[in-house]
Amino acid sequence: MISAHQMTNPAQNLAEVNEKIALAAERSARTPGDVVLVAISKVHGEERIRPVIEAGHRVFGENRVQEAQQKWPGLKAEHPDLKLHLVGPLQTNKAKEAVELFDVIETVDREKLARKLAQEMAAQERHPKLFIQINTGEEAQKAGVLPREADDFIALCRGDLGLEIEGLMCIPPVEEEVSLHFMLLAAIAKRNGLTKLSMGMSGDYEAAIEFGATHVRVGTAIFGERPAKE
Ligand SMILES: *Cc1c(COP(=O)(O)O)cnc(C)c1O
Repeated sequence: MISAHQMTNPAQNLAEVNEKIALAAERSARTPGDVVLVAISKVHGEERIRPVIEAGHRVFGENRVQEAQQKWPGLKAEHPDLKLHLVGPLQTNKAKEAVELFDVIETVDREKLARKLAQEMAAQERHPKLFIQINTGEEAQKAGVLPREADDFIALCRGDLGLEIEGLMCIPPVEEEVSLHFMLLAAIAKRNGLTKLSMGMSGDYEAAIEFGATHVRVGTAIFGERPAKE
């Protein structure tokens, strides 16, 4: 079955999302160019990704290393200016592949992973930009550093591990008022001198921009509904 959403054209959806980003940026007296749209293409195949690339979009995100390895090396070879973000949890045993393929890793969330990334980046002489994921809702099932541990973890990454940290990322709990989570993430970033905030998805990216998002991760609003998991 094809849903109504899947029949819509991803390139046209992209244009609408870009328009809404521009309006949200304007409402909060920010420049639209300050907000990076990360098009989350997980689950979708090349036939839905290509129209978005052809429309000129260059920043994409995936949540699984293995899936990304199957989809992106060819597309990146064709378009060297493509930037790929990892937005899903990263196992240390996939750190090598993640450093090889991704330009931004948004999900640094524990010391063991941070150490492994530091080693891999040195070994490969490749330096993806790093975001630290904060579990703003303190949810047991969700990855991310707890808010009260964030300052120490950021200091460890920057100090002992010598990692350059670009910003913070969060995925708010589904049933909660997202603005509190966006404000919390912004506050942690500010007191640590970090300027990049990856927050906001299809349902709340405009709100996220008003709370200072510099990166919004939008999947469904561009590519349509994802098929339900197996
Ligand atoms: C899937 C995913 C998104 C995109 O979600 P949509 O609601 O489809 O826009 C954003 N961030 C992360 C971490 C994701 O896994």
